[in-house]
Amino acid sequence: MGMTRSKRPGAFLTDEEKARVASAIAAAEKETSGEIRVVISRKVRGGVLDAAKDAFRRLKMHETRERNAVLILVATVSRAFAILGDEGVHRHLGQEGWDHIRDGMAERFRQGDVAGGLVHAVSEVGTVLARHFPWRADDRDELPNDVVEE
Ligand code: CA
Ligand code: CA
Repeated sequence: MGMTRSKRPGAFLTDEEKARVASAIAAAEKETSGEIRVVISRKVRGGVLDAAKDAFRRLKMHETRERNAVLILVATVSRAFAILGDEGVHRHLGQEGWDHIRDGMAERFRQGDVAGGLVHAVSEVGTVLARHFPWRADDRDELPNDVVEE
């Protein structure tokens, strides 16, 4: 999937943009027990889906209580991204649901708005998670909300 090139070589997202994405994750997680993480990877050159699966494992995203974590990984070299949900999420969201979120994100990326695309995708994923995994009184922040850069 194509993305337009960032206007800021060296810094894929500014600190302010990273803070915006983290805030969007925090806001989404106020409505759901699900966990969302965003990874910006400079290392990935091959398949972005394999990279997402690898990051998912490394970040221990499969260890949430309800198996309801969702990872959004952006590869800065190939300008591609992948959205990967744990098995609890996949039971509820068919391929069409993922495609819809992906298309909305891709559209913003094409316009050069990477941060906007991420915020949009986080919000959409949050809406889906909230429907199937509503926030619970005993909810914990099982995974940090800050953007991972690697
Ligand atoms: Ca949580
Ligand atoms: Ca979290």
